[in-house]
Amino acid sequence: MNSIYNLLLEEMEEYFISHNDKKFHADQLFDWLYQKRVNSFDEVTNIKKEMIEQVKKDFSISCLTLVTKEEDTDVNKYLFRLTDGEMIEAVLMRHDYGNSICVSSQVGCNMGCAFCESGRRKRVRNLETAEMVEQILLVEEDIKERISHVVVMGIGEPFDNYDNIIKFIKIINHPKGLQIGSRHITVSTCGLVPKIKEFMNVPYQVNLAISLHAPNDTLRNQLMPINKVYPLNELFQALKEYEKVTNRRLTFEYILLEGINDTAECAMELVSLLKGMNGYVNLIPYNETEHLTFRRSKQLQIMKFYDILKKNHIGVTIRREFGGNISAACGQLRSKKEEA
Ligand code: SAH
Repeated sequence: MNSIYNLLLEEMEEYFISHNDKKFHADQLFDWLYQKRVNSFDEVTNIKKEMIEQVKKDFSISCLTLVTKEEDTDVNKYLFRLTDGEMIEAVLMRHDYGNSICVSSQVGCNMGCAFCESGRRKRVRNLETAEMVEQILLVEEDIKERISHVVVMGIGEPFDNYDNIIKFIKIINHPKGLQIGSRHITVSTCGLVPKIKEFMNVPYQVNLAISLHAPNDTLRNQLMPINKVYPLNELFQALKEYEKVTNRRLTFEYILLEGINDTAECAMELVSLLKGMNGYVNLIPYNETEHLTFRRSKQLQIMKFYDILKKNHIGVTIRREFGGNISAACGQLRSKKEEA
């Protein structure tokens, strides 16, 4: 059944109008769902009974169930069951500036990045908008606090589920929805060029992060198959256009893999590639996983790489690490099917 959390405010208005009822019921229902946080349509008191009975026939109110929660310092990992028995994960991180959540966008992923645990299971299906919205609702319910920042960096390639991601952004950003400021929302992509082009025209100040991970095509082809479809020159052409249209600063994610992309030469190549771009590099210490042989660069090498970028005036940060003890770190999340 269609979940009520799939609906934009406008769609809900149309729904009520199509049932010969008042458009403003959409405002009221949004308020029950996103401000009062009811878990049942029966709690709605200001819409007449027959109409609510109709809503109950047409929509479900819950499509995600919390299965388990694991806690570590400043981080919780959540495993959710979807109505078809599939399972996905989301991660809550506590920062000094607020709570952020890393949400999943697909069950599995088709991008096939060589270093990523999440992508070892191929895409089973896209997550619906509601399944992404509910990750936030359920985590907020669990911690009894608001979430201020959202990153779409969990399982899946968000731009491979583009339409649902855009709807998700609209709902969580909406003043009557979850009211998460667009500058507090970040979407991360491995580089689906046509979608980057579409995304630049979306009228929201949402941040875009690019999983780069290599400074040249030879290496990037080996690590990220998507590069064979959209090589670096095409990607950067689109990104330059993106900068011009949006005036926003890009984030380049760069995992450091020992002996593979962490050399001084790679750092210099990265400097040349990013010269003139309005972006900064987020260096990610690689999280090792049991099935893959990639190793994390040594701390000294990470610092060397960092220094080269810094000296050459490329903005650079090293990602703070969360959740390594509970496999909640970048690239470690997994989707699975419920065992019958
Ligand atoms: N598909 C999107 C969203 C996933 S974001 C994307 O590619 O951007 C998850 C981020 O974690 C990506 O930058 C991904 O490349 C990175 N990542 C994957 N495996 C990792 C690992 N084992 N250690 C650290 N980062 C990893």
